[in-house]
Amino acid sequence: MGENRPILVVGGGYAGLSFIRQMRKYSPEVPVTLIDKNPYHTMLVETHQVAAGTRPAESILIPFDQLGDFRFIRAEVIAVDPGTRTLSTTAGDIRYERLVLAVGSVDHDYGVPGVREHCQMLRGLADAEEIRRRLDALGPDAPVLIAGGGLTGVELAAHIALRRPGHRSITLVEAAPTLLPGLPPRLARAARRRLGLLGVNVLAGSPVTRVEAGRAHLRDGTVLPFGLMIWAAGVRAHPLVTALGLPADRTGRVIVGPDYRTPLPDVYVIGDCASGHQPSAQAALQQGRALAAVLTGRSPAPLRSKGVLVDLGEHRAVGRVGAITLSGLVPGILKRFTEAAWIGRIGGWGAALRSLIWGSPALSEGVEGAPRMRI
Ligand SMILES: Cc1cc2nc3c(=O)[nH]c(=O)nc-3n(C[C@H](O)[C@H](O)[C@H](O)COP(=O)(O)OP(=O)(O)OC[C@H]3O[C@@H](n4cnc5c(N)ncnc54)[C@H](O)[C@@H]3O)c2cc1C
Repeated sequence: MGENRPILVVGGGYAGLSFIRQMRKYSPEVPVTLIDKNPYHTMLVETHQVAAGTRPAESILIPFDQLGDFRFIRAEVIAVDPGTRTLSTTAGDIRYERLVLAVGSVDHDYGVPGVREHCQMLRGLADAEEIRRRLDALGPDAPVLIAGGGLTGVELAAHIALRRPGHRSITLVEAAPTLLPGLPPRLARAARRRLGLLGVNVLAGSPVTRVEAGRAHLRDGTVLPFGLMIWAAGVRAHPLVTALGLPADRTGRVIVGPDYRTPLPDVYVIGDCASGHQPSAQAALQQGRALAAVLTGRSPAPLRSKGVLVDLGEHRAVGRVGAITLSGLVPGILKRFTEAAWIGRIGGWGAALRSLIWGSPALSEGVEGAPRMRI
């Protein structure tokens, strides 16, 4: 059986919001409060489009006050003190009875010298805006270099190439021998073909070993000049979570069982902060639902990968859905509907329809507290 003690959720991303939605459904009587540093949910999986400038920022944000029936506090959490059950935040100390940490992840530079100083990261809206600003300021001959040929890097490269068709040099570097490691080779080849058609040079099989002002060095001796270098090569757990010193994997994500419980009393972790799966929005939202089941005395559903879709711009994508691999417009349209399904789940079908028809789920133009950007 579940209990009724209040729950404080830190982080209104895919994991946190999915947890809150499911709790409202299973046990509406349990008081749930969300704390987030932003007043809106960011659809992080679409930030590459904002960075490239192919989509306005507002269209990937949903204000929490349009999501309904839970209390929201806007504050950045600085530290957790499990001894006194207190969060220290930018809005003062806040006590909790039960705590769900869903703060996502941060960039991982893998200790490569110069990355922090000379590369732009892509983690959230502020980074996306900065990339867009710097791209706009770049001359047509200045090379753009993207490190990381996983999902984020490939999607970003495709959208930058689409936004800047006259640009002479956009290069994507991947340490592994192929793009999109983990996906079937057929899909990696299809993605590479599409990037080639868009004018992106792909260099796979040699990691970046050092970055200095305007130049990146690869292990095979290649030196690549750049006007802008974007680091999209991996993530690690959020420092708020690693600071707790809990048993963790090599990227700092807390090792938890199927009940998402940590060794600390009444503290749970979900989403990118939890170990045992590839960090993804899909896993995060399934974990949110599973934790709500655990806390209301139900059996949590095991995590199940439904597939992956890689956005290559102009409604084209490559991906795997169940056992089927797809490339072209069909997965591209599926990707659009996946986004609408998420919006529908957290914001209702009106918001999902608004997103499909007008391209933005928010009720009003402009989102309070959000950067105002137009294409
Ligand atoms: C460009 C890009 C493309 C991607 N594409 C895909 C994709 O196609 N498919 C897929 O499955 N995954 C994709 N991902 C990965 C996916 O976005 C993440 O795995 C997912 O967002 C993790 O969800 P989460 O709820 O754990 O964290 P997040 O969605 O990152 O949410 C964390 C929340 O915590 C808040 N927060 C953080 N720190 C604090 C703090 N100190 N105090 C208060 N609030 C805080 C943030 O504001 C945010 O709202 C992509 C990621 C990127 C960057």
